[in-house]
Amino acid sequence: MFIYFECSHGHRLKTDRRHAGKPSQCPQCRIPLTVPQPQANPITDSGVVRLLGEHQAPAKPSFAALEPEQACPRCGGEIATAARICKHCEVYLAPDQKLWNVSLKSSSKRR
Ligand SMILES: [Zn+2]
Ligand SMILES: [Zn+2]
Repeated sequence: MFIYFECSHGHRLKTDRRHAGKPSQCPQCRIPLTVPQPQANPITDSGVVRLLGEHQAPAKPSFAALEPEQACPRCGGEIATAARICKHCEVYLAPDQKLWNVSLKSSSKRR
């Protein structure tokens, strides 16, 4: 396995991994240099993608943008569309809006 590096003059050099960290010299310009250590963990493509993803992660949208208000069918109060329980009359709001009558009956019996 070889180590690829450049001398201070930009000459591209290749040497055996066994020479890593040892003093050497460029065979072209004779400049003294030290063979660098081989990179243990070069960045892979997936690593680059992950770093970019973290860097460009969009901010979470606000709740106001996600939950426009709707009117409660029982009390008419404004509640969030995603809400399951009316904050005004505490009636249960089924997502498909089919269980409202059931909830109304059960709540009236409890009283
Ligand atoms: Zn050189
Ligand atoms: Zn209500």
